[in-house]
Amino acid sequence: MNSNPITATVDFEKDGVQHGFLRLPHSRDDSAWGSIMIPICIAKSGKGPTALLTGANHGEEYEGPVALMELAQTITAAELTGRVIIIPAMNYPAFRAATRTSPIDRGNLNRSFPGKYNGTVTEKIADYFQRTLLPMADVVVDIHAGGKTLDFLPLACVHRLPDKTQEAKCVAAMEAFSAPHSMMLLEIDSVGMYDTASEEMGKVFVSTELGGGGSSSVRSNAIAKRGIRNILIHAGILKGEMEKSASIMLDMLSGECFTFSEHEGLFEICADLGVQVTKGSIIAKVWPAERTGTSPALYHAKMDGIVTARHFPGLIKMGDCMMVLSIPV
Ligand code: ZN
Repeated sequence: MNSNPITATVDFEKDGVQHGFLRLPHSRDDSAWGSIMIPICIAKSGKGPTALLTGANHGEEYEGPVALMELAQTITAAELTGRVIIIPAMNYPAFRAATRTSPIDRGNLNRSFPGKYNGTVTEKIADYFQRTLLPMADVVVDIHAGGKTLDFLPLACVHRLPDKTQEAKCVAAMEAFSAPHSMMLLEIDSVGMYDTASEEMGKVFVSTELGGGGSSSVRSNAIAKRGIRNILIHAGILKGEMEKSASIMLDMLSGECFTFSEHEGLFEICADLGVQVTKGSIIAKVWPAERTGTSPALYHAKMDGIVTARHFPGLIKMGDCMMVLSIPV
């Protein structure tokens, strides 16, 4: 039997608001028959679409957990037609350790799909989403930010999909989210992503990159809270009026958007987030960290574009993603 060891303490079919856990048995040194308890809230009223809302797919991205903890605390069944499944911290062990990947198996949940029912802790979480939670959902929203090592212009994003009807539904949901920027995202590495798993199942999927640096701000949390509420209204699940605002549409047309560091040292950013750069202009310098009197390595923009993401820490290593540019459409 290929059954996942996770059991839910909530009933997915029951009307009302329930708070509970996804309990994943995890036998370990400090707890022989212990479990990982992943918080979950189900809010349901009658028949209607299901939204699956997640944060902390990467453990040190905080707008999702903040917005979803508040939503779980305030949502009432009376304002719903359908069901909302809220999981504020998808990779819960990583969230508690404030790390991108799980401290238990170093699993990057967003590279672990479709997962394995008999795999590592992270693979078991992925498998539970793949085979239990995603099939229940019509609309899937996964709130990301840059984490400790990247910082982004606040944006909601979708991907180009082979099914153009599905793509149009994803774009409409992204527009409902109303982040300051909206992006057709080009992934460096889409294998194993929750995004890919959701899209291949035909779901309406919206993700975000709402900031970064390993914390959140008044502004980025407000964008997450408003966007999630808007998507629930757009999907016909939540009663109320959407709070829309203008969004700048951005596109990434090729790999030229990305600049990766070929040096290590002291990172000097030369074009802040949101700045328009022209092809050939200096976007960053990497100074040798160990001596004075040596010139920095200069990095030039490979295209005209807007600085959409940047390396966040003050030091940089070989291979780090230094900057992402995108083009307003
Ligand atoms: Zn992330």
